Amino acid sequence: MANLEQKYPDNASGDFFVDRTCIDCDACRRIAPAVFSEASDHSYVSRQPDSEAERLRALMALVACPTGSIGTQSRQDVRPALAAYPERVSENVFFCGFTSSDSFGAWSYFVERPDGNLLVDSPRAVNRLLHHFEERGGVRTMFLTHRDDVADHAAFARRFGCERVLHERDVAGGTREIERKLSGSEPVRLAEDLVAIPTPGHTRGHAVLLYRDKYLFTGDHLAWSARRGQLVAFRDACWYSWEEQTRSMERLLDFSFEWVLPGHGAWHHASSPAAMRRELEKCVRWMKKATVA
Ligand code: SF4
Repeated sequence: MANLEQKYPDNASGDFFVDRTCIDCDACRRIAPAVFSEASDHSYVSRQPDSEAERLRALMALVACPTGSIGTQSRQDVRPALAAYPERVSENVFFCGFTSSDSFGAWSYFVERPDGNLLVDSPRAVNRLLHHFEERGGVRTMFLTHRDDVADHAAFARRFGCERVLHERDVAGGTREIERKLSGSEPVRLAEDLVAIPTPGHTRGHAVLLYRDKYLFTGDHLAWSARRGQLVAFRDACWYSWEEQTRSMERLLDFSFEWVLPGHGAWHHASSPAAMRRELEKCVRWMKKATVA
């Protein structure tokens, strides 16, 4: 629950505010960019919502915020915002909302599949999501891109008996019991429409997931930067090896996809697999230059 007495002074005057517990994860800025902006180390309300649509987006940011850092001075009905999640990205792919502070606000995704539903990384295990997943047949597979974004994985496994998948190099105390540990560097076909691709770099055991040769769930390996207008990796948040991450990025050129859906940073939909490939090639060139610099 955000605290009015702790609100940042740079918030625009009005109902919505961000307080000093903000961890600068960027979720609110992506969910409601008309309302929230970035300061040096936090988000703030740069403009109060001035339509019902903007107010709903601001409330969706409020309920998705991992630290409860967004508040309102008046009493607001958040039920429509809660009901807006999971939010459709495209076709049967959904953004879960309800980010977790344990994953530093990373985004997770839900995919409704005829062969069993898929969860990519872990949202907060809030009742709204648990009921929603249950109504749609539960969760069969939970793909964990890397050790940082596992959050409430155990709660989902308990509720749905799903098979959790994580690369063995990223298994730690809290994930020892997971059902399927990937190994090595070669891609692994998990199902006809799902390929796990090890992408060491951000962490030693990072992996991305390719769905239907169309959607690439990229965790903290690859994202779109609106500021640079290109695909990027996060050099400042590369915990294992930038050189290795660059090689992992180059190997992704062997695969075809149109969507990049990350944990942090913006997602990107290219007009075609060829257009995405050109973006990826540009990213690899940029990473190689950054290696030399
Ligand atoms: S979603 Fe919450 S923690 Fe993340 S940047 Fe916004 S206010 Fe801060």
